[in-house]
Amino acid sequence: MISSPDSFARDAASLDKLSTFESVNFYFERAAELLQMPEDERVILQRPFRELQVEIPIKMDDGRWRVFNGYRVQHDNSRGPCKGGLRYHPSVDNDEVRALASLMTWKTALVDLPFGGAKGGIACEPHRLSSGEKQRLTRAFVRAIGDIIGPNQDIPAPDVNTDAQTMAWIMDEYSARHGFSPAVVTGKPPALGGSLGREEATGRGVSLITRAVCDVLGLPLRGAPVVIQGFGNVGSNAARTLSEMGARIVGVSDASGALCDPRGLDVTALLAYQAQHRSLEGFAPAGAKQISNEELLALDCDILIPAALGGVLTAGSARDVHARLVVEAANAPTTAGGQQVLAERGIPVVPDILANAGGVIVSYFEWTQNLTEFRWKLPQVQRELEESLARSWDEVLAASKKHATDWRTASYTVAIERVAVATRARFMS
Ligand code: NAD
Repeated sequence: MISSPDSFARDAASLDKLSTFESVNFYFERAAELLQMPEDERVILQRPFRELQVEIPIKMDDGRWRVFNGYRVQHDNSRGPCKGGLRYHPSVDNDEVRALASLMTWKTALVDLPFGGAKGGIACEPHRLSSGEKQRLTRAFVRAIGDIIGPNQDIPAPDVNTDAQTMAWIMDEYSARHGFSPAVVTGKPPALGGSLGREEATGRGVSLITRAVCDVLGLPLRGAPVVIQGFGNVGSNAARTLSEMGARIVGVSDASGALCDPRGLDVTALLAYQAQHRSLEGFAPAGAKQISNEELLALDCDILIPAALGGVLTAGSARDVHARLVVEAANAPTTAGGQQVLAERGIPVVPDILANAGGVIVSYFEWTQNLTEFRWKLPQVQRELEESLARSWDEVLAASKKHATDWRTASYTVAIERVAVATRARFMS
C-alpha cells in the first residue's frame, strides 16, 4: 500500500531540528514512499558519492598565514558529470555542502539535464578579504580539489559570494595544468566562454516560474505585491524581471537590512544603487520604510521570494508569513517545519529545485557551447530557458495530480525516478 504523505506528518518544531541534509532526505523519503522505491535503492540514491574536505593555507596581505576549510561534495554522477555552485560564507560546513549537493542532484534530474549534483564552499568572511586574498584562496582551493573537477567530472559555478571573476580564476588555475579548459566551470565572463544570459538566468528563471504558477493559481502577476529577501545575483535579477512583467516589488532586503513601500519600490534605482555600492546599505528612497529582515518576511504581499540563505522560513517565522505564494529562489530557505506550517496554512510553496533551476539550465547551455566551441545568441538562450522551465513545471503539475501531493514532493518524485532509472541501468541490473 502506498503511504499517504500525511503519514510523515510530525510536529513542526521537531522537524525544525533536522539538519539541512536530513530535511532534504525527509522530502526524498516522502517521494520515495509514493514511488514504492525499495529500501536498498533509497540508500544508494541518498548517500553522497564522494566528499572532500581540504585545508587551504594562504598568505594574507599582512604577511601572516591563515588556514581556511574548503569542501566539495559530489552527491551523484549517474546521469552525467557532477554540477553545482561554490559558496564563500562563514556558515559553510560539510552538512550544508552535502545538503546543497543533494539538492543539485534532484534539481538537475528534475529539469532533465545530463548532470549529477555537487556543491562546494569555503568557510570564510569574503567581505573581509581583499581581492588578492580571495584570488589566492580560490587558486589554492582549485589546486587542492583539482583531481576531482573537470569538464567530464565536476563543473563548479557561482553561488553565494562568488561570481564570474571567481569562475575566471578557477578556469585559469585549472587550465594551467590541463590546457585551455573553459568547460571546467560555468558562469564565467563572456570573454572566456561564459554564456550570454547566464548571470541573470537564476533570477529570470524564478520570474518565469512565478508567472507560470500564477497562471495556474489564477493570481494576476500584473500589479501583484512581491517581497524579495536577498538582493544579490538571484534576488536583484528576479526583482528586475518580475517588475518588467508588471509585478510591484513592495519589499527587498540584503544582509544590511530591509526596505518596504506598499506603493512599490523603484527597482531601477535599487539596481543602480546596488551596482554602485555592492549593497543596499544607506539607500533611503523617499516614502520607503527601513525594517528588519524578520519584518520583511512577514509583510503583506501576494508573493514572497526568499533569495538569500537557507533556513529562513522556520516553523516560527512561517506562522507570520502573509503571502499567498512562496517561491524558493534560494536553496533550502524553508525548513521542514516551515514547510509543514505553510502547508497547514494553505500557502503553496514552489520548491527550490524547480524555482531556481534557471541557473543550472543556462550553465548547461554554457557547458555545451564550450564543448562544441560554438556561441549562442541571447534570444536562443532565453527561449530555451523558458521552454525548459515550462516543460518541467508541466511535469511537476502532472506528478502532483498523479500522486495527489504538494509541488515539492511531486518534484522529488520526478527527479528521483530519473536518477533511479540511470542508476539501475548503470550498475544495479
Ligand atoms: P549573492 O551572494 O549574489 O547574494 C546573496 C544576497 O543575500 C546578498 O544580497 C546578501 O546581502 C543577502 N543576504 C545574506 N545574508 C542575508 C540575511 N541574513 N538576510 C537578508 N539577506 C541576506 O548570492 P546569490 O547567487 O544571489 O544566491 C542567493 C541564493 O540563491 C542562495 O541560496 C544560492 O544558493 C541560490 N542560488 C543561486 C544560484 C546562482 O546562479 N547564483 C543558482 C541557484 C540557487
